Amino acid sequence: MHTGSCLCGDVRFEIDGDLTPPSACHCGQCRRQSGHVWASTHIPNDRFRLTNNVGLRWFQASDIARRGFCGHCGSFLFWDPKDEDAISVSMGVLDAPTDTTLARHIFVADKGDYYDLNDGLPQSDQ
Ligand SMILES: [Zn+2]
Repeated sequence: MHTGSCLCGDVRFEIDGDLTPPSACHCGQCRRQSGHVWASTHIPNDRFRLTNNVGLRWFQASDIARRGFCGHCGSFLFWDPKDEDAISVSMGVLDAPTDTTLARHIFVADKGDYYDLNDGLPQSDQ
């Protein structure tokens, strides 16, 4: 099992089993909300449990997904697609050890102009 929380602890959660190999998203929405590149793991909803949702707020960022954050401390926690029975969870809010390694870069066509990608991981424009 894995656990995680926002910075202040007003949002806490548990994940059963192993984490899906994380991806780093370079799209404009993820970069704006996270402050840079957003690394996340995609977890089926039946393996994900909120254990404290006092601070949880949702922002409907698009027609396809809403974005979860803590209304108290501001941590960006979740990307929740409307048509999937799964949720993406920020790697940065998980407690160590995560026992996984970054697997790929996505939406690299939208990446910022202030950094390079040269770690050799697979890249896709979507
Ligand atoms: Zn918080």
